[in-house]
Amino acid sequence: MTAPCPICAGPGQVQRRLTADEITAGFYAVFAEKPPAGAVPGDYDIAGCTVCGLVFADPMAAGDAALYGWLTGFTKYHAQDRWEWTRMKAILAAAGRPMALLELGAGRGDFLAEIATVPDLDVAGIELSAASARAARARGLDVRQAALEDIVAGEAGAWDVVVLSHVLEHVAAPLALMADVKRLLKPGGRVLFSLPYSPMSREYLHDDIMNLPPHHMTRWNISALETLARVTGMRLETWMPRAKRPWKRALKHTCDLVRGEGRVSGLARLPVVLANWRTFRKVLADHRKRDRVDGRMAADTVLVSLALPDAAGAAPEQRAT
Ligand SMILES: [Zn+2]
Repeated sequence: MTAPCPICAGPGQVQRRLTADEITAGFYAVFAEKPPAGAVPGDYDIAGCTVCGLVFADPMAAGDAALYGWLTGFTKYHAQDRWEWTRMKAILAAAGRPMALLELGAGRGDFLAEIATVPDLDVAGIELSAASARAARARGLDVRQAALEDIVAGEAGAWDVVVLSHVLEHVAAPLALMADVKRLLKPGGRVLFSLPYSPMSREYLHDDIMNLPPHHMTRWNISALETLARVTGMRLETWMPRAKRPWKRALKHTCDLVRGEGRVSGLARLPVVLANWRTFRKVLADHRKRDRVDGRMAADTVLVSLALPDAAGAAPEQRAT
């Protein structure tokens, strides 16, 4: 029997089977190295919630220290999109009042150093790695070595903003994580997080092993995010960068498909597309079917805000940008 949805408890429907061998081969294709023993816990079913649209792994057995110890050794693993940081700065600056912000998983403090430039914002973080926390403190940042469960009782209701970038999709119990994060917030406070918008555009061509278990346990679209807001009793806002036009994506992805990823670029794509017109039409049709969020075609990442009602019971007035 398929496991129920970890967010809304709706029935899950198996979409496909993903074997440990396929996962291992997928990692090898990205990193040219096999993951160590124990990093891939086993086979998974990939299931879709028939009610809210969340896609989740069954079993919800997340990657552990063996996987992350290996992944974090690769420089390319740390590549990060910065558009979210710019957008978060704008969102927090627009609040126009003194606020206290806590980042969960602050690393060496790159985000905190950037966001600390927002006026009237006090920033702090917690981080599991002692070495990273030390490196952040050496930059003058308030980053402690602690886990969320260490601080949730002592700092309940202490924070206006909690940030956890690219965390939710990795955990085996997303609802329990959100419940802990909620406890940290003051009335009217909000949690800000970014995550991949699934399926990502390149996944029309092939799997992205980094967006599948044991790395990502859940895959989110707008319907699943709306359900998360409803289940947690919080108010949802989302922001996305502007997505590339479908025909631009289809040009690139047709060439990736017939010649190999990244092999053909620029004007050299035109003759390839003309020689493979039928494939191009198919890829373009797939891209045109992509979800629309706030009336625009979905990009590959989404920045999410979930806000608690304020003391008077109303969600804070927030300006969408
Ligand atoms: Zn669901």
